[in-house]
Amino acid sequence: MKCALVTGGSRGIGKAICVRLSASGYHVIVNYHSNITEAENTLELIRSNGGSGELLQFDVANGVEVEKAIDSWKANNKESIIEVLVNNAGIRQDALMMWMEDSTWNNVLNTNLNSFFYVTKQLIKEMMVNKFGRVINIVSLSGIKGMPGQVNYSAAKAGVIGATKALAQEVGKKNVTINAIAPGFIKTDMTADMNEKELKNLIPMNRFGEAEEVADLVAFLASKKASYITGEVISINGGLYT
Ligand code: NDP
Repeated sequence: MKCALVTGGSRGIGKAICVRLSASGYHVIVNYHSNITEAENTLELIRSNGGSGELLQFDVANGVEVEKAIDSWKANNKESIIEVLVNNAGIRQDALMMWMEDSTWNNVLNTNLNSFFYVTKQLIKEMMVNKFGRVINIVSLSGIKGMPGQVNYSAAKAGVIGATKALAQEVGKKNVTINAIAPGFIKTDMTADMNEKELKNLIPMNRFGEAEEVADLVAFLASKKASYITGEVISINGGLYT
């Protein structure tokens, strides 16, 4: 069975990615942190579209928890292989740097950057042995451009971009590709507190993006059609920044 693991698959962009990858024929492992109701909704949507999937709860920011959960999944699924990993789970906790608490810095770095290391480390070796693998990291325009009020988030996403480029060079020979997708403003819970009416005026396409639009790009990068793309950061932002 070919499997795809999507972190933060319970809501927003991750949910759309789960549904889209399941339509590409993957058995989708839907990771979530605490919102089991929304995670079950994602799974229900996958199944009602004729796909298959399962839930796997863990906190991506906790290396021990990640290792335990993925090890136990592997032990119960010896015949299966996770060939697509989407590192999507993320949080933002905005504050101006001069007033930023240590905890706000650490939470955002742990959830958005250290998570990449914890989760990818558990799966990269099997991908290399299998001589096929796709790692897709959801980063952000903030990690490319830097955003005021988001020094923590911008640093974390920029860190993942650097890691994407470095890891791509380590594993390219084994037919494993590592890419990042950098969305601009996408309509999800994460942006629900933002003033879309005002902000859309900054966007050449004059609207926020949809989670499904990001999911289509993930599906392309996961597919064999994207075999020669690696170490890239692809923006999807309605023309907001170049
Ligand atoms: P949402 O807030 O809508 O969803 C976040 C998802 O991440 C949820 O499924 C949540 O799980 C999960 N999650 C959060 N913390 C953890 C954790 N510690 N362990 C496991 N899962 C966790 O976010 P979006 O869908 O908007 O964002 C998805 C990704 O896209 C993030 O990396 C974000 O930084 C990035 N992004 C989003 C943009 C946007 O405009 N929306 C723009 C640029 C980048 P649970 O439901 O259990 O809480």
